[in-house]
Amino acid sequence: MGMGIMKDGSKYLGVPTSWGKSKQETLGYIRDRIMAKLQGWKQMIMNPTGKEVLIKDVAQAIPTFPMSCFKFLKMLCQKISSDICRFWWGEKEKGSKIHWIRWKELNEPKECGGLGFRDLQAFNIALLAKQFGRMVQEPNSLWAKVLKASYFPNSSPWEARSGASPSWIWSSLLEGGELLKKGSHWRVGNGGSINVWEDKWLNVRDGFISPPPLVPSNGMPPLKVSDLFQEGVREWDEDKIEALFSREVGSAIQMMPISWTGREDAQVWGLTSSGLYSVKSGYHLAFQLTQRKNRGQDSLATDLCSLLWKKIWHLKVPPRLKHFLWRIIRNAIATIENLFARKCARSPICGLCGAEIESIEHVLFRCEWTAEVWANSGFMFPSPVNRVVSIKRWMVSLIEDWGDRFSEKREIAQRAILSKGMTGLFPAQTECERTPQRLGIPWGVFGSSLFARDVPARIMGK
Ligand SMILES: [Zn+2]
Repeated sequence: MGMGIMKDGSKYLGVPTSWGKSKQETLGYIRDRIMAKLQGWKQMIMNPTGKEVLIKDVAQAIPTFPMSCFKFLKMLCQKISSDICRFWWGEKEKGSKIHWIRWKELNEPKECGGLGFRDLQAFNIALLAKQFGRMVQEPNSLWAKVLKASYFPNSSPWEARSGASPSWIWSSLLEGGELLKKGSHWRVGNGGSINVWEDKWLNVRDGFISPPPLVPSNGMPPLKVSDLFQEGVREWDEDKIEALFSREVGSAIQMMPISWTGREDAQVWGLTSSGLYSVKSGYHLAFQLTQRKNRGQDSLATDLCSLLWKKIWHLKVPPRLKHFLWRIIRNAIATIENLFARKCARSPICGLCGAEIESIEHVLFRCEWTAEVWANSGFMFPSPVNRVVSIKRWMVSLIEDWGDRFSEKREIAQRAILSKGMTGLFPAQTECERTPQRLGIPWGVFGSSLFARDVPARIMGK
């Protein structure tokens, strides 16, 4: 027939055509491809913004196609993520540099204090959900017919189960289906496809639910929504509804209009305004579901925090300065206190003034050597800088105090100088072996004054 025979190990559309026994091994080539990219980039000197773009748009996009077909093993996702994480924080000749923030937290969206790097497992599920949705929408395509014949010949895809020995593809798709179910509800048409007790179809104040029976019981007989219609008429059967549900639930059901045309019931994705599934919204849901409930004990209100991050990421200053602000607010800086906590310094005390622990607030504001810089900067801050206890709260109070003026041009210019000044106090020094002697001459420019915080502990004004 003129057909060639595929050799073992060959690929079609970037996916291997034959699978060995180990899924880990077969998909290992993806990690290799990402590693190769990262190795290439390591030769280049890159700022955080450049790295961020490469990670998001190139490295994390590599597995998109295979991830639309297969559920990756958790271990593989973790290995890929830790490769990327090492690239992000940088590597030294021996081992990697300090990872100041856990990868999981870098996965958080930017408005929550993370960097929005993809959580690969959540991304995987979001892509599988899209594929499951395609299977539902294209029931006449060959692949959907094959799957139906094999796994759910007598039911709808929504009711399909994994069966005794499901293939990898099928169990992967089902996981995508689970996500779709979590973010969707039913739009009642002829009511024939919707299970009254299991599916979300009743619209109440908090969203869509499956209505609870009047008498809670585990053994409610299966019932379709169409069974609640009057025989032969498109109207709710009041008597039936009264017998099965509480008065409140019953009246909510009867408020629902019934389709006159008797169209098919449809699943509606609840997280986009169009009701259509998007990988972005699916990822958002999958990511939320994987997050630990009580992450971090942050005393600041969530909305204030997200306002702070939004303001920072929208500042009209060079991106590397925004990254620097992000790092100081996340306390991801090699202060002596942080180094001491990681057993990289003998004492947490400031090497310049010796008066306090060298925390981020100390080194940026309270140290007598730094306070001098601010005093000469001519800035009018809402509260004296030498009393700054929490950099995060201080930034929030700055935003509150400046209010809308935060975005005014003159303020932007000041903000630029401010963050530049802070960058100046911290030149690129995240190595473990940082000591005051190795600091060199960090400098900050404030207005027309040039200051240097020198070793040993002098501030020089020019
Ligand atoms: Zn000090």
